[in-house]
Amino acid sequence: VTTFKDRNVALFGLGGSGLATAQALVAGGAKVTAWDDNPDSVAKAQAAGVTTADLRTIDWSAQAAFVLSPGVPLTHPKPHWSVDLARSADVEIIGDVELFVRERRAHAPDCPLIAITGTNGKSTTTALIAHILKSSGRDTQLGGNIGVAVLTLDPPQAERYYVVECSSYQIDLAPTLNPTAGILLNLTPDHLDRHGTMQHYADIKERLVAGSKTAVVGIDDTFCALIADRIERAGVKVKRISKRNVVADGIYAEGSGIIEAEGGKSSLLIDLDGIATLRGSHNAQNAAAVIAACLAVGVSADDIRAGLKSFPGLKHRMQPVGRRGQAVFVNDSKATNADAAAPALSSYDRIYWIAGGLPKEGGIASLAPLFPHIRKAYLIGEAAPAFAATLGEAVPYEISGTLEQAVTHAAADAAEDSAASAVMLSPACASFDQFKNFEVRGDAFVGLVAALDGIKMLID
Ligand code: ADP
Repeated sequence: VTTFKDRNVALFGLGGSGLATAQALVAGGAKVTAWDDNPDSVAKAQAAGVTTADLRTIDWSAQAAFVLSPGVPLTHPKPHWSVDLARSADVEIIGDVELFVRERRAHAPDCPLIAITGTNGKSTTTALIAHILKSSGRDTQLGGNIGVAVLTLDPPQAERYYVVECSSYQIDLAPTLNPTAGILLNLTPDHLDRHGTMQHYADIKERLVAGSKTAVVGIDDTFCALIADRIERAGVKVKRISKRNVVADGIYAEGSGIIEAEGGKSSLLIDLDGIATLRGSHNAQNAAAVIAACLAVGVSADDIRAGLKSFPGLKHRMQPVGRRGQAVFVNDSKATNADAAAPALSSYDRIYWIAGGLPKEGGIASLAPLFPHIRKAYLIGEAAPAFAATLGEAVPYEISGTLEQAVTHAAADAAEDSAASAVMLSPACASFDQFKNFEVRGDAFVGLVAALDGIKMLID
């Protein structure tokens, strides 16, 4: 990034995206002083050629900007000490996404930028948009909160499309984000530890769509519905999306049908029935948002339909990995608590369910309304006894102990049931008692599935 060429920039937070950001600034000629509370990260930055110094010792009056990693507290529970120093010196505080959008404005202001936020479904929506753009032959860059630092992407140029997932932290640090199309999917209480109140959290998310050329807003929750009305009154072009109600100008779902409404006319754009990676009403919301955003940046309806149909899904998130007979084998390892497991359990109706791991507070009692979808549960890890107690008489279960036993038994039972719809790992637990993380757990599941007799794998 060249926007800070020859100027002093202080930077705090040298984990993943922080180090990439420091390096991008240095490469663009900025005079960066970086720091982190973790000495290992500081050492790593030094080894990578980044100048480091404790930011309590630098001349703040000489800094043109303070670049903060999105993980570092800006407000709640209290600002990080470096934030206090920047504020006292009246130095603007920004993040890597802001650096990226300034670069874009300087070099290719018209290159399409789609920014996505919301409480749930961000990564799915982001990946799906990038997939559609790529499949239609467009030069597509995917990054942000999804795990690729935006400053490591190819630099902005005309005809290059950017799809950027934004956490509320990143929006907070990107005052001039102003995307071509901005998506706010939904808002439910989450991360309130960091943002204090729901209203504050909603206000931050609102900024992303308020600054968009076209704002795509899911109106199935009250906060977002109010935001859509408010920004529209302020003159923003709004496309409303809904997974359950008809909207006048936007995209909505009617069952698995996704319908476009415009100028008093409505037409069926696509039926999601049979697209294994987009099952469930939550995915209808994601698909509706994807369609609205893609139309806003000029993708044809045909290209959108083709991309939706060929979407491979995201790893570990309700990912169909194999099929045997009627039964789909689903890797939903990312579901580390009961709320996260709910969409998967509600998307299939005769499930052989593998669950358990390191238990979280609240257990699985909240899933009781979905118990009728479960034919049998295979319980693993430390949570097994507690889950068994909750399932009680309502759902047959076994304590399988290990994932290996659970897959073997669940697959065998599903093979006996010609109407079985899914063998699913959706653990509703953290993985750390048996696995390094949810990715390793999901990969282990996929490995075990791939070794089953007669399985047709749906992924490479
Ligand atoms: P995020 O990036 O916001 O964490 P993901 O796309 O990674 O979201 O999806 C994580 C999980 O959240 C999915 O496995 C699914 O269970 C659930 N989910 C996905 N989309 C939605 C949605 N639109 N509304 C509610 N839950 C969703």
